[in-house]
Amino acid sequence: MAMAAAAGVDDLRRIGAHETLMLEPELRCREALLSPSTGIVDSHALMTALLGEASAHGAIFAARSKATRLTRRANGWGVHIDGEAEPTLVARNVINAGGLAAHRLAGATEGLAAEHVPDIRYARGVYFTYAGKVPFRHLVYPVPVPGGLGTHLTLDMAGSARFGADVEWIDTIDYSVDPARGARFLAAARLIWPGIDPDRLQPGYAGIRPKIGGPDAPVADFRIDGPERHGLPGLVNLFGIESPGLTASLAIAELVATRLGVDGP
Ligand SMILES: Cc1cc2nc3c(=O)[nH]c(=O)nc-3n(C[C@H](O)[C@H](O)[C@H](O)COP(=O)(O)OP(=O)(O)OC[C@H]3O[C@@H](n4cnc5c(N)ncnc54)[C@H](O)[C@@H]3O)c2cc1C
Repeated sequence: MAMAAAAGVDDLRRIGAHETLMLEPELRCREALLSPSTGIVDSHALMTALLGEASAHGAIFAARSKATRLTRRANGWGVHIDGEAEPTLVARNVINAGGLAAHRLAGATEGLAAEHVPDIRYARGVYFTYAGKVPFRHLVYPVPVPGGLGTHLTLDMAGSARFGADVEWIDTIDYSVDPARGARFLAAARLIWPGIDPDRLQPGYAGIRPKIGGPDAPVADFRIDGPERHGLPGLVNLFGIESPGLTASLAIAELVATRLGVDGP
């Protein structure tokens, strides 16, 4: 088991069953790694703050504008937007951070060789929420499983708890949550919290991971491909930005800026 606390700056530490019990009396495990510096953030508030800061520096956010194609221009890239005949804008630099669809835009980028467009597969991760108070103050992670972190206990800013996310390979984007997965979630949750009330575990929501390669491929790192890799100036493609992409977002932004030779955040 690994536990993460909401405050502190100490290093990752291995702790035994006794100390674990002192920190989390309901948790059963032989030993754990304690990460006192791990925290949680309100992701929506973080996005709002980043958007506010970007806007204050002159950025314009254009929602519902799907980039369908990138074409080369003398001074950068023509960005074609769905429904528009001509490139809607010409940009010196383009950062393709299209998440689940990043490989599609990369595949429609003029001059980008096929070897720089990875095969992306989808792995859905479902959460079940717990309707009620939980006796935990830390995030609790089991040993990782192939394709994911293992069904862990996460707390949000309001103190609500959820168990997830599992790993299910899917062919098309589908965020539905099958209530029949409940039994498996209960079994996984009981490994962390034997005293859980099964009636309070309810289907929650799903997220989808953009995986580089399929179930049998080795665990892949984020792919942040700049001109040094594909040879096209002013273009960075981001692939496979799954967890912990949100936590790492500012570090990723710095790396992207370095790849483009511009000032970072
Ligand atoms: C189940 C699950 C749990 C996770 N838990 C954590 C966690 O605890 N901590 C953490 O750090 N990370 C976590 N992550 C990972 C995190 O959510 C991602 O790393 C992060 O959202 C990636 O951000 P992104 O901007 O690269 O992609 P996305 O968030 O997927 O955003 C891509 C955006 O691009 C848009 N787009 C796509 N194609 C186009 C196009 N052609 N034109 C215009 N727009 C386009 C999409 O509509 C979307 O808005 C989790 C992910 C999942 C699935």
